[in-house]
Amino acid sequence: MRSTEASPEPTSSALPASATLDAYASGKLAGLERSQLRRHIVETDGLDAVRVEQTGQSLLNFCSNDYLGLSRHREVIAAAQAATARYGTGSGASRLVTGGHPLLFELEARLARFKGSEDCILFGSGYLANLAIAPALLSSGDLILIDELAHACLFAGAQLSRARVETFPHNDLAGLSAKLAELRPDARRAMILTDGVFSMDGDLAPLPGLQALADRHNAWLLVDDAHGVGVVAGGRGSAHAFTPAVQAPLQMGTLSKALGSYGGYLCASRAVCELLRTRARPLVFTTAPAPASIAAALKALDLIESEPALCERPTGLARRFCAAAGLPEPASPIVPVILGSATAALDASAQLRAEGFLVTAIRPPTVPRGTARLRITFSAAHKEADIDRLARLVAAWAPQDEAVE
Ligand SMILES: *Cc1c(COP(=O)(O)O)cnc(C)c1O
Repeated sequence: MRSTEASPEPTSSALPASATLDAYASGKLAGLERSQLRRHIVETDGLDAVRVEQTGQSLLNFCSNDYLGLSRHREVIAAAQAATARYGTGSGASRLVTGGHPLLFELEARLARFKGSEDCILFGSGYLANLAIAPALLSSGDLILIDELAHACLFAGAQLSRARVETFPHNDLAGLSAKLAELRPDARRAMILTDGVFSMDGDLAPLPGLQALADRHNAWLLVDDAHGVGVVAGGRGSAHAFTPAVQAPLQMGTLSKALGSYGGYLCASRAVCELLRTRARPLVFTTAPAPASIAAALKALDLIESEPALCERPTGLARRFCAAAGLPEPASPIVPVILGSATAALDASAQLRAEGFLVTAIRPPTVPRGTARLRITFSAAHKEADIDRLARLVAAWAPQDEAVE
């Protein structure tokens, strides 16, 4: 216990400590309930790539990140089953202890080739990858500049690093440039952190400008492409949405979205990956990903590399939807419909549910206060007729979106 911190709770009472713990949790939940920010995890039975059943109701899922439906693909499932039969269900320990099954090395080599990097390291999840990267490279005396709308796990990794962490306005190169000019001279090392495709807004980061600023100020650019791989630029990711492609030195991503599996990765130079293999705590002190997950991702990568038309389909469907609903043209399969208050987002989600669509309301702190929204995502497995029906329902809210933005 930190002795300097004044405790608001009585230090002794007739109640057992577990009672004050429960009282604390219940009070906190009641407060969240009052501000419409309490969340619930609903049992959901996936029937196929886009149909789910919740509390007896069959719904079309328009909020999954399984953009290509690969988590349900026959060949992907077969690969996971074969890996389980061959290597077992678990990995047993950290790779630094037990070495790791051959599939881990195979997928690292494949991802490095796919991303055009010298090397790659796999992590248990994308979240863990981002907890690993900044803390392995920076510490106190260093600087992190992070886009204000970057994913929560980039912020979590930044905070763990003990570097000074400052946000810059979303996708604002002039704003970033000003912060670099002000803060970079006092920092030993510096990093710039951004999503490649922003997870709650679906827009792309201005990667060529970010890389140019990073080079000018000797700052290391980390691009989180969780929502780019498999769906942007024919599946090759946000780096390839630009000509020439932007080869950031730190390219992070996940196996858990378009690849339909679970796990995360960093593609970088050999020296950087070797340093992380030795120093990154979320690699050293956690068990290696399961063989089935890695085999599934390997097969998914085969499909992504051989079927660019499949990879183009989710964004194509998002464009069709936006045109019909009167929304701006999207750059990815993620379409935000910003409604403002948590209550408005919950109401809109409930209305869509009554029509057979699962579109979960996204509320603070996942998005900034006052920008609660529907976040609609498109899958290659969606049917055009269902999209057109959803667009007619959402069109009613579209003008409000522009007013808030
Ligand atoms: C989902 C997501 C992550 C986390 O990846 P997981 O593999 O699900 O842990 C990281 N960054 C972004 C931008 C994401 O959207």
